[in-house]
Amino acid sequence: MSAKQIRIADVIKHFESWCPQSIAYDWDNVGLQVGTLDGEVTGVMTTLDVTEAVVDEAIRSNTNLIIAHHPLLFAPPRKLDTDTPKGRIIQKLLKHDVTVYAAHTNLDLIEGGVNDMLADALELNQKRVFLPEGKQTYKKLIVFVPKTHEQEVKDALHAGGAGNIGNYEKVSFVSGGSGYFQPNADAQPFIGQAGEIEKVDEVRMEVLVPSENVNQAVTAMVKAHPYEEVAYDIYPVEQTGKVYGLGRIGKLPVPMTLQELAELVKERYDVQHVRFIGDASATVETVAVLGGSGRDYINQALQQADVYITGDLTFHETQDAMEAGLNLIDPGHYAEKIMKQKVADYLQAEFLEVPIFTSQVNTDPFRGI
Ligand SMILES: [Zn+2]
Repeated sequence: MSAKQIRIADVIKHFESWCPQSIAYDWDNVGLQVGTLDGEVTGVMTTLDVTEAVVDEAIRSNTNLIIAHHPLLFAPPRKLDTDTPKGRIIQKLLKHDVTVYAAHTNLDLIEGGVNDMLADALELNQKRVFLPEGKQTYKKLIVFVPKTHEQEVKDALHAGGAGNIGNYEKVSFVSGGSGYFQPNADAQPFIGQAGEIEKVDEVRMEVLVPSENVNQAVTAMVKAHPYEEVAYDIYPVEQTGKVYGLGRIGKLPVPMTLQELAELVKERYDVQHVRFIGDASATVETVAVLGGSGRDYINQALQQADVYITGDLTFHETQDAMEAGLNLIDPGHYAEKIMKQKVADYLQAEFLEVPIFTSQVNTDPFRGI
């Protein structure tokens, strides 16, 4: 397939099969921010933030899709004043047909998201979610399909996000049988005639669907199904899947001093500065890490970890944490830029011919000397 045939919506659909919008917090604003999903993708650029310099970089590199972690639009604007920095950014995006899409708390919460990226960069073992929010839930979808349309309907279900179990995709169970129906006088049946009982070779197709994908899977399935009235059932199932939540906690491959860990964090997160709080020579092994601003969870970290790595710490709460005996490392909020490469790699693996870049603009507002 050539890159010309890939639409922005295709890239987003693949991204959302990993990072659905439905997982984001209600207060968040994720998904499409500016522009359209309808059109061919010329290139994708991943970034932590959408600044004017980032937009200029996208335009220069002929990229029409920016995928950002931090939403460009958060509070609803009351006007679009193009004399303000944000207004100018939006004007430039629209003028150059550049679409902005954001994956914020959904990318923080999901397995493999920002928090896993930060934990994995430190090679944490026995890793688990630091602040569990919930578990993936599923529904069982069963549909009866004429044998002739088995493959079409199966493909549609998978494209609609059904049939993923753990590391396995396109999982289904199909058994054969006979379907019976009698169309009434108003029906426009695909097979059979009004008033006569029809017997058709059908298959019973069963798939497990993540709850958030049920609507899109049913819509895709009904569209691909030849019958006027599609017979399907949706059952609740008891089993749950992956735990999602903020932060990760785990053990370092080898215990080290707080000072050594601070140096490791600086190197692995590729940040210019880290601040740390605690006894530099203290030995630490169990690490809690939370990307962005994690200062609200200091107490939970104190109960579970030797050291807590998070950004945006402030003077007084840090002092309180220190008094309580918690070691802290603050690599800055900008450590979340780790998502740029990981999201780009994820998309590139699927869309080999689409140019996919990471923004090279340093959007950290802080500079050190
Ligand atoms: Zn953030």
